[in-house]
Amino acid sequence: MHRRIFAPGVLAASTLLLAIPASAASHSPGAPGIGDPYYPDYGNGGYDVSHYDLRLKYRPSTDELEGTATLLARTTQDLSRFDLDFLLDVSEVRVNDAKASFTTSGEHELEITPKSPLDKGTALTIVVRYSGVPSSKQAYGFTSWHRTPDGGVGANEPEAAWWWFPSNDHPLDKATYDVSVQVPDGSQAISNGTLQSTSSRAGWTRYNWRSNKPQATYLATLAVGRFDITTGTTEIGIPVVNAYSKDLGDNDGAARASVERTGEIADWLTGYFGPYPYNALGGYVPNVTTGYALETQTRPFYSPRQFANGSNTSVVVHELAHQWYGDLVSVAGWKDIWINEGFARYAQWLWSEHEDEGTAQELADYVYASHPADDAFWTVKPGDPGPENQFDAAVYDRGALALQALRNEIGDEAFFALLKGWPQRYAYGNASVADFQRYAEQVSGKPLAALFDTWLFQPSKPGAPAAREALLARAATAPVPPRSWKRIAATNDVHGR
Ligand SMILES: [Zn+2]
Repeated sequence: MHRRIFAPGVLAASTLLLAIPASAASHSPGAPGIGDPYYPDYGNGGYDVSHYDLRLKYRPSTDELEGTATLLARTTQDLSRFDLDFLLDVSEVRVNDAKASFTTSGEHELEITPKSPLDKGTALTIVVRYSGVPSSKQAYGFTSWHRTPDGGVGANEPEAAWWWFPSNDHPLDKATYDVSVQVPDGSQAISNGTLQSTSSRAGWTRYNWRSNKPQATYLATLAVGRFDITTGTTEIGIPVVNAYSKDLGDNDGAARASVERTGEIADWLTGYFGPYPYNALGGYVPNVTTGYALETQTRPFYSPRQFANGSNTSVVVHELAHQWYGDLVSVAGWKDIWINEGFARYAQWLWSEHEDEGTAQELADYVYASHPADDAFWTVKPGDPGPENQFDAAVYDRGALALQALRNEIGDEAFFALLKGWPQRYAYGNASVADFQRYAEQVSGKPLAALFDTWLFQPSKPGAPAAREALLARAATAPVPPRSWKRIAATNDVHGR
């Protein structure tokens, strides 16, 4: 599931170490980051989590969250100590049944020193007891916890976990989840996956959610509030659970008219991307004031504002497309964001075609023509945009334009085989833009280095293919947007900072 790169010689050296009795000298602290150049402190080094068990209690009136996180993990190096990423107040940490000492450092590091050093390959059970008011915590001056009149919501990208559970916060370390949350009777707790059971006692109701397939930390979500929950089953048999804040006001009808079509849209996407990869499906719309949506695994988060102008199936298409492109196959590093956003945007173009509101080619032509060569739009490289432009509109629009260029280069048959094959090729794992290029070359039998370089990695406007030049030149004088354009552009604001 996880990609690790070993430098030549490192393997031989560690083999030698095995012959030497373990000594404290060979154990060193795990790195405070997993090694992502965009976000050096995100995730941690030295271990790999396989499961999170979160047993929580939340008071909507005060935003107080308390609970116990039990992490199952394995060390990947000899460790004297290791970090988790977390912001709430920790009262106790235990590692393999022994009390561990802990302290905080940096913006979001929880440094844990186990009673004795840990050898490489050791199975770990890490128990963290904690409490706190998530809305009172910030890192780098921002928060991903949305306080609502009736509770709170944790949903953001690339970071949301710090505000509600301790983790190895990077997509490279995926794990399964059991999220059990106690809330006052009359409130509901929404998370990912299937609702295994609920139980009520002494004025509190416990919701037990399970995500049984590997899930990146930023795709884990928690929402507590007063929700109306609807259930159903898609035509191909996937159970659907949707949740709507009871406080959506005028947006309520449009939100339901969009999100209730989740089953239909997911089934439609299987025609392009292959079988739906999870055993649960849905969406939730809390009464937040943000404007973005997020592909939280099996159950996307939608802001009410997405539905302010009426129903918006395009945003549902976008977030559900991510279930394959982003969730099933996750970025290897945050520079690979095109693997997520270029494809989710292209799915919106395919939906536009399906709805007879403009073809993918028409949308591509419009993107191309509406940005003149000196537009800053072309300086953003979707294949490596930099952290400051990770969610720039160019990652989406130029990203989808690159896919149309690829389609035109290799033909529909190879292109759609590629769209369907990729999620299977790296299912439940991680992959990079370079992996996609290699796979596209393999499927199409064509060398594609120049095409990928032109459309994804050059900070300038690519030249138009000769055959389209005249048409595009005409369009450039007064580009006319396809009918779906406005609605698709309204889904640009995915990121909440
Ligand atoms: Zn997206």
